[in-house]
Amino acid sequence: MKERAECEICGRYEYLEEHHLIPGIANRKISDKYKLTIKICRACHQNIHSKKELMQWSKEKGQRLFERKHSRRKFIEMFGRSYL
Ligand SMILES: [Zn+2]
Ligand SMILES: [Zn+2]
Repeated sequence: MKERAECEICGRYEYLEEHHLIPGIANRKISDKYKLTIKICRACHQNIHSKKELMQWSKEKGQRLFERKHSRRKFIEMFGRSYL
């Protein structure tokens, strides 16, 4: 389901897609559980999945979000490594 709102990356008013900040099938569920997701437009979403440096930004953002409420040790426990 799509909703029209502001993209969290470019700020465009668009139909948004949910992006899981930490990539990988196994990590998706954990990302859902801890709400490590952002709502972005299709163009930004394609960008993030095709550019290495943007995906790195995404992982770091995901970890920072996680560490607002939980410890780094816990992050490494869940995702197997630290991105920061
Ligand atoms: Zn965008
Ligand atoms: Zn995505």
